[in-house]
Amino acid sequence: KTKAKRFRHQDSNLGMDDVAGLENAKADLQEIVDHLADPERFRRLGATMPKGVLLIGPPGTGKTLLARAVAGEAGVPFFSLSGSEFVEMFVGVGASRVRDLFEAAKKESPCVIFIDEIDAVGRSRGAGLGGGHDEREQTLNQILSEMDGFTPTEDVVVLAATNRPDVLDQALLRPGRFDRKVHIDLPDRKARKAILEVHARKIRLDADVDLGKVAVRTVGFSGADLENLINEAALLAGRERRDAVDMALLESARDKIVLGAERDQGMGD
Ligand code: ATP
Repeated sequence: KTKAKRFRHQDSNLGMDDVAGLENAKADLQEIVDHLADPERFRRLGATMPKGVLLIGPPGTGKTLLARAVAGEAGVPFFSLSGSEFVEMFVGVGASRVRDLFEAAKKESPCVIFIDEIDAVGRSRGAGLGGGHDEREQTLNQILSEMDGFTPTEDVVVLAATNRPDVLDQALLRPGRFDRKVHIDLPDRKARKAILEVHARKIRLDADVDLGKVAVRTVGFSGADLENLINEAALLAGRERRDAVDMALLESARDKIVLGAERDQGMGD
C-alpha cells in the first residue's frame, strides 16, 4: 500500500457507555448497532438495514463520538472523512476519494462510514456559482451513487453529521439515502453532569467536588466544552502543584472557557 492515505480507517474502541446523555439518539441508533452486529439475523427475516442516518446538531455535541461508538459497540470497522476536506480540491479528486472509501468499506462489510460536515459537499445544488459541474457537486453525486449502489449483502451504514440541515440538497434525504434523522441538542443539566462524570474518570478529583453543581453552572456548554473544562482544571492543578482537582479549580476553568468564548465572539464581528 503505497498510496497516500485518503481517508481514515480505524477500529473504534469506544462503546455507547462513552457517550453520556443523548439517550434518545442512542436509543435511535441501537437498531443500527444490532443490525451491524448480526446482519444475518435480520437478513433471514427479510429486513433491510437503513443505509444512511443524518446526525443533526451543533458543534461539539458528540456526533463524531456517537458514530464511533456505534461502530465500537457493534464491533465493526469505522471509516471516516470530512466534507470540508473536499472544498479546495481539484475537480475529480473528491469523487475518486469517495469511490475509494466505499470500495474499501464494502470489502470490510459490515462496517460504518462516517462523513463529517456533509453540508460542505451536500449543499443544495444550483445554489452556488459553480454552474453545476464543480468539484463539490461531483463529490456529492458520487456519494449518492455509491449509496444507491449497495447490494443487499453489503452491510455498510453511512452516518453523516451536519449542523446545517437546512442547506442540504434534497437528493440526499430521499428514501434509501439519508432517510433517517437523529437530532442531537446541547446537553441539559442532567446530561451535562453525566458528561462531566465520563471525563472526570480520567483525572483525580478532590473529595469536595460536586459535579452536579458544576452542571448547574455550565448552561450552554457542549460536550466538547465540558471535556475541555475538566482538562483545563487538571492543567491548572498541575501548574499549581496540587494533588487533586477541587471545586475552586473547576470554577476557574469554567470562567476561563466562558471568557474565551466571549472573546471569540467579540473578535468575530
Ligand atoms: P463537530 O460538529 O464540531 O465535529 P461533534 O458533534 O462531532 O462536533 P465530537 O467531536 O463528537 O462533537 O465531540 C468532541 C468531544 O467532546 C468528544 O470527543 C468527547 O470527548 C466530548 N463529548 C461531546 N459530547 C459528549 C457526550 N455526549 N458524552 C461524552 N463526551 C462528549
